[in-house]
Amino acid sequence: MSVTTINQILLKNPVSKDIVYEFGKEDSTFEHGSVKFDESSLKEGQVLIKTILLSNDPTQRGWLSKETPEKVSHRTYAPAIKAGEVVRSLGLGEVVYSKSEKYVVGDKVSAMITWADYTVVPEAQVFSKIDESKGLPLTMYLSALGMTALTAYFGLTEVGKVTEGQTVVISAASGATGSVAVQIAKHILKAKNVVGISGSDSKGKWVKSLGADHVVNYNSPTFAKDLATAIGPDFADAYFDNVGGEVLDTVLPLLKDHGRVMACGAISGYNDPSLAAVKNWFAIITQKLTVQGFLVMEFSAKVPQAIGALVQGIQTGKIKAGEGLDLVDVSKDENPLESVPKAWSRLFSKDKGPGKLVTKLV
Ligand code: NAP
Repeated sequence: MSVTTINQILLKNPVSKDIVYEFGKEDSTFEHGSVKFDESSLKEGQVLIKTILLSNDPTQRGWLSKETPEKVSHRTYAPAIKAGEVVRSLGLGEVVYSKSEKYVVGDKVSAMITWADYTVVPEAQVFSKIDESKGLPLTMYLSALGMTALTAYFGLTEVGKVTEGQTVVISAASGATGSVAVQIAKHILKAKNVVGISGSDSKGKWVKSLGADHVVNYNSPTFAKDLATAIGPDFADAYFDNVGGEVLDTVLPLLKDHGRVMACGAISGYNDPSLAAVKNWFAIITQKLTVQGFLVMEFSAKVPQAIGALVQGIQTGKIKAGEGLDLVDVSKDENPLESVPKAWSRLFSKDKGPGKLVTKLV
């Protein structure tokens, strides 16, 4: 194979509030770009990866933000993307050139790549080589065995220290992280009462089929009452918070004294941070709650152990791996790369199906 040009989606205008998905306007968020590729320019330890699948993650919204650079990017695991830079993304692809001793041409790998048909990647940015002999679908390495599944695992075990018999509340329960968290909490950690929170009754039905004892719809006018009923009179031991904002405020008073909040994400405020403000701060004081933020990367030393637990969970049917996938296939579109931002935008819309949102580029 000969690759001479890499086509990319660049960040044109870092985002203040609303993303402008349309290309070709002055205020467009994204624009097309391309760079010339020459095999001889590949440095020692680098590989060229051909994109197959792109992971769509809410955290990318922070990387696109105008406000992110000085304030927080140095504290997170990835810096903000500057105007003119290619958009970064987790993904899965095939090594087509290699100057690495670890990866050879033809290897399928999951890595930090970009919204591009090819990405030059140092081997440190390759997370794992896919063992195709296992016969698992490639999409699974971005879903049930991917970063969001690890987040669910570490959030419950290392941060929440959830144990048998507890009551655990999980928001964004139909999402990539939440749907795996529900299954780990119920079937592996043996929580007594797992309460999922979701935005529609149909997604709620799916979350229940994964093992949640109750699912409550946060869009219902009776949400607070329904949640209290689902949790029961003894309150909840732990809350896996993917959402922040109003949902977090509703859950806080329903936690036990000394209850725990695993602060995983705050998707309600990614497009408008004011929506993620916590108004029920007093509940944290009076109920003596522990609120602990975490990033999945801090548990990297324990990833093999976590993958082992997830694989065993899949093999024993405790984690339904095949179902948690919302696949957007843009490969037949006239310009597949141009469809990538729109596919990603589903994360923040009602169109997103249950499970992990993955884009198939080729
Ligand atoms: P996902 O698959 O995109 O699911 C997100 C879900 O959030 C959606 O399905 C939607 O559920 C729900 N949601 C969206 N807007 C909401 C709102 N305003 N109020 C309540 N729910 C809302 O997400 P994911 O990849 O699992 O990520 C979930 C969270 O974990 C995100 O906040 C992400 O940033 C965070 N995260 C953190 C780490 C870490 O290391 N700390 C790692 C990975 C992810 P409904 O359709 O039911 O409304």
